[in-house]
Amino acid sequence: MDFIRLRGIGVSPGIAMGEIFVTETAGLAVRRENIPASQVEKEIERLKSSIEKTERELLEIKEKIKKIAGEEQAILLDAHLLILRDKSLFATLERVIRQEKVTAEWALEEVNRKYRETFESINDEYFRQRRADIFDVLIRIQRNLKPERSKRKEQLGDRKVILVAHDLLPSEAASRFGRGNIIGVALDMGGPTSHTAILARSLDIPAVVGLHNITAYAKNGDFIIVDGTDGEVLINPPLAIKKEFQSKKEKYDKYRLELRKIARLPSVTLDGVVFTPLANIELPEEVPAALSLGAEGVGLFRTEYIYLQSKTLPSEEEHFEIYSKLARKCYPRPAYIRTLDIGGEKSYSQFNLEAERNPALGLRAIRFSLKNQDLFKLQLRAILRASSQGNVRLLFPMITELEEILMIKELLSEVKIELRRRKVRFDENIPIGVMIEVPAAAAMIEFLVREVDFISIGTNDLIQYFLAVDRSNEYVSYLYKPLHPSVIRLLKHVIEKSNEAGKEVAVCGEMAAEPLSALILLGLGLRIFSMNPIFIPRIKKTLRSVELKTVEEACKGILNLRTSQDIEEYFIEKILSRHPQAFLTTQIT
Ligand code: PEP
Ligand code: MG
Repeated sequence: MDFIRLRGIGVSPGIAMGEIFVTETAGLAVRRENIPASQVEKEIERLKSSIEKTERELLEIKEKIKKIAGEEQAILLDAHLLILRDKSLFATLERVIRQEKVTAEWALEEVNRKYRETFESINDEYFRQRRADIFDVLIRIQRNLKPERSKRKEQLGDRKVILVAHDLLPSEAASRFGRGNIIGVALDMGGPTSHTAILARSLDIPAVVGLHNITAYAKNGDFIIVDGTDGEVLINPPLAIKKEFQSKKEKYDKYRLELRKIARLPSVTLDGVVFTPLANIELPEEVPAALSLGAEGVGLFRTEYIYLQSKTLPSEEEHFEIYSKLARKCYPRPAYIRTLDIGGEKSYSQFNLEAERNPALGLRAIRFSLKNQDLFKLQLRAILRASSQGNVRLLFPMITELEEILMIKELLSEVKIELRRRKVRFDENIPIGVMIEVPAAAAMIEFLVREVDFISIGTNDLIQYFLAVDRSNEYVSYLYKPLHPSVIRLLKHVIEKSNEAGKEVAVCGEMAAEPLSALILLGLGLRIFSMNPIFIPRIKKTLRSVELKTVEEACKGILNLRTSQDIEEYFIEKILSRHPQAFLTTQIT
């Protein structure tokens, strides 16, 4: 029993340890078999009954998944049922059987090959997913053609096992996870956004994918460790390593339990001041996990991912579906949708952007949208339409001057007029806000804030522009200091002026997720903190462990200090002298 250690992509965190269960890789690849003309009708009947059986199977899996993972995860099965019930699929298979006088298995193989050829040339995540769905359905039909084989299900009983496979069809993942035997997953193939990965995450099953050749080493019954947090898999490890992972697992499970506990506690400081943690996300599917970590809504929905997923420009309907899903999943909590923030370091092939000498200062974010108004209006229409289904707010990135807000309002009102004329429903009073990321906008905040309903401070960019430090350049990262005295002053100004104007103000940059910075922001008057949801519990714990009064006093003191190091030392000392527990945040390591 050789010890094997492999590295892959951790797509669902946590550690699972146990017995390997290798499942056969799905694949069509059958041989061409001709049948006599007299057998054609019988073959078509065989195909029909296999399709019926597949339908019953999919309905069963759907119900199971709905019960254990919720309606949302079951939608995948709806997509498969739709493909299965598509009359043209059956008609094509029937035609192949009739014309070529071949078995149903071969007809499925032929149809699969045609789809593969059609989709292969399209390098697009959306189409890849559709192709995977079709493949999934064809395989199921094919398996069900052979009753004796499909009946030969592995009898796992109550055994808890770790599933190892080359790849896992989404419907197969749904059905296997649904039985409750699978405590971990390790696959040769796969990526973090596959349905299998999403499902594993939502069911809390540690999973590592992209291991390339784990199936070459895995034997049924051998011992395996799946570390979904660090993306590692270990087969037959020596006792010392086993023990090491056992204690890592215990730590992680304890941490997880504590996270869930914190998530349910109210978001208030020791002296009862309410604050609001929100989530920064890119996919509507992330909402349930964000809420379970304590997010009280989505404070920043980055829409760039919609473009990243697709080689061609996404249609209004594609935008609309994603925003509607987001709005519904968040409701009644708010979802702040930010319009496209392209350019800078985020460049997408669909737009054929010209190389700019200074991209961070070039045609990015709202500048790009205002230059490409058809594209911008398409996105605004989709967001407005989705606003009828939830609590949607519109957020505009990288505002530099007031004129841009006026132009945005003009375009927004044109889109609203058009929708009214078409009698399309939308939230007439959809709140609009701007991101403060350009120092010029921060300096003019008193004027800008009057034009909008809320402010969201993008500290990642604001610091980069204010300190003239490229946020992704390692050579100057030593200068990237969120606690630079000038940054503190600037943030104080923006937060105070927004509060004075009676407008909501949030920070959605990384600063909101860092305990020390978050405390300073609280002291400066901030109440809304939007961040990567995994950081919400630790920020919640930090803010819950202090009195606002203490933090405000400490904040007053730091305004007289000259360096970020002085600020950090002074602030920590002040807080700890009153609240010794303040920085004991929840961390795994
Ligand atoms: C920011 O700049 O702080 C921000 C939240 O936007 P992004 O990180 O997407 O540029
Ligand atoms: Mg930004």
